[in-house]
Amino acid sequence: MAHILHWITRASSGYPLMSTLVPLISQAEIADTVARLAQTLDQDYAGKSPVVVGVLKGAFIFLSDLIRQMQTPIQRVELIRLSSYGAATNSSGNVKVLMDLPPDLVAGQDVILVEDIVDTGRSTSVALANLAACGPASLKLCSLLDKPSRRQVAITIDYLGLTIPDRFIVGYGLDRNEQYRQLPGIFVMEA
Ligand code: 5GP
Ligand code: MG
Repeated sequence: MAHILHWITRASSGYPLMSTLVPLISQAEIADTVARLAQTLDQDYAGKSPVVVGVLKGAFIFLSDLIRQMQTPIQRVELIRLSSYGAATNSSGNVKVLMDLPPDLVAGQDVILVEDIVDTGRSTSVALANLAACGPASLKLCSLLDKPSRRQVAITIDYLGLTIPDRFIVGYGLDRNEQYRQLPGIFVMEA
């Protein structure tokens, strides 16, 4: 397992801030998890050509790794953006759709929604409801991570990578104030 990481960011004033990041999921464990999910999707979508919809920004790295591990011919990759956080580490519960996709790209298609993490479930439920309203032939959810301890809305995760404890994590696409997305592993932020 990787070591604790000391990561220096800068406050808007330019003042350096050091945070301590404790490894939770290694790069190798993420790669194994992504490969397993891709294999399961390939089995389940044999003979089909799904539309894969990623949720920005958090899922962009997972999405790009996942689709490159899949053998299934993907018909198209679409991106939607939802925001519920702002700068806080707690979901405000106020989900905003910042980008939407035309309903005709989803109607009659086999759609896979790709999320980074399901936490309260609020943003995922909004995304699923929006997609369902477009009349897909099928709609499934693939999430790299599940943080079930804080769930407020029941969500069925059809394809789940890993379950994590109730900690605020960063890395592999997940941010804190837009930073840390570039880290190849997943870390718990110590205050
Ligand atoms: P929800 O609470 O609606 O299920 O999750 C909304 C979004 O909050 C997730 O898609 C993810 O981008 C973000 N989120 C939830 N838990 C964490 C976390 O531990 N760390 C980070 N960086 N983002 C999180
Ligand atoms: Mg997200």
